[in-house]
Amino acid sequence: MTGPDDSGAIAARDPDGRENADNPPIRRLEDWDAEALLALADEYDTPLYAIDLDRVRENCERLRAAFPDAEVRYAAKAHTGRAVLETVRDAGMAAECAAAGEVKRALDAGFSGDGIQYTAVNPPARDLDYVVERWGEHPDLTVTAGATDTIDRLRERGFDGRLCVRVNPGVGAGHHEKVRTGANAKFGVPYDRAAAVVDAARADFDVVGIHAHAGSGISGDDLANHRELVRRMGDLAREVGGLEFVDVGGGFGVPYREDEPPLDLDAVADATRDALGDADATLAVEPGRYVVADAGVLLARVNTVKEFPDTTVVGVDAGMTTLLRPAMYDAYHAIRNVTDPNGPAIPVTVAGPICESADVLCEDRPLSRPSRGDVLAVGNAGAYGYEMSSTYNSRPRPAEVALSGGRAGLARRRERLADLTELETDAPPN
Ligand SMILES: *Cc1c(COP(=O)(O)O)cnc(C)c1O
Repeated sequence: MTGPDDSGAIAARDPDGRENADNPPIRRLEDWDAEALLALADEYDTPLYAIDLDRVRENCERLRAAFPDAEVRYAAKAHTGRAVLETVRDAGMAAECAAAGEVKRALDAGFSGDGIQYTAVNPPARDLDYVVERWGEHPDLTVTAGATDTIDRLRERGFDGRLCVRVNPGVGAGHHEKVRTGANAKFGVPYDRAAAVVDAARADFDVVGIHAHAGSGISGDDLANHRELVRRMGDLAREVGGLEFVDVGGGFGVPYREDEPPLDLDAVADATRDALGDADATLAVEPGRYVVADAGVLLARVNTVKEFPDTTVVGVDAGMTTLLRPAMYDAYHAIRNVTDPNGPAIPVTVAGPICESADVLCEDRPLSRPSRGDVLAVGNAGAYGYEMSSTYNSRPRPAEVALSGGRAGLARRRERLADLTELETDAPPN
């Protein structure tokens, strides 16, 4: 059995009985049944997100098995669909909410107050007002503050409940510069002042935990950073004492490329426990992406095929407003022609319908030759997919279908053109 070493290198290790063959560490795009996806595209039209709740459950189970003594909190911002939240809640996980709207959604989905962490990042007044109001009915919910100003603003609103202090651990990790939060001064109180902040807050609040989040998309290569973050948090927990939990964030990566190995979750869990040391507090982790990424695919239909000397541009009905990650993070998503999965491959650029050159889902990628009308599936679209969609170019957001136990049902209807102007008023003078 291989495990993490100090260089941070980590090989996917053979399951040692903790892993179930029925619950593999990753579901790849090619593991989805092409005909079933095609049938969904025909029935619900495209662009369409499909989210498989059975796979969400499997991901929750693997997380709970890897971290049996930890509290696992689902970072809801990866996918806030109600069916997903309910599935995660039923799997025994708590919810980590990044905004008042997520707190509302978690409560609506049946999370109890003690299963809700609200992690405020420069929270707008309206968010704090809302959360403090809901705290009145749910006194067990926990608010995480990453600035003394936020703590002051909570005090001003009469909040004296469960408080967690977000710490800037000075180490970050992640798949892209834009998602590394751990060393970004935007997030958390400075590490060397954190103990003083905790001590001062104890006068007015029930300080239950400390929190840090390194960033998103941690791979084996970042494990050294993750360990360092956890080690610092363990030290801090011992220094301040009397905490209920030490939350070391989320960021467990998933392999977006077909040849990337899956994250060895057990190795991450071992490294985390090891680095935390014997702090007299429960470990908490907050995976978002890991719970939902490989449970989702995006289906898009080819509407235009244009041959150029060096590439073929395949126009589809989904683009950066449907799935922002490629344009925003240069993210790689596997793409498959599910109408004709095994045709001869040609290099293609898959482009969306938005008037932006960044609006491409892939460039010069070998793909079974697409024809007009074919359906393309985009893999690992369950996390930060629908969530980051927008209506730029006045393009209505797609529908989403949820799958469970071999059945399918519409989870979110397609936006209509009429929805785009619904919020406009007649007030502007003209
Ligand atoms: C985004 C976020 C997470 C989840 O990150 P993933 O990469 O989706 O696991 C966890 N905690 C906090 C505070 C976050 O902002």
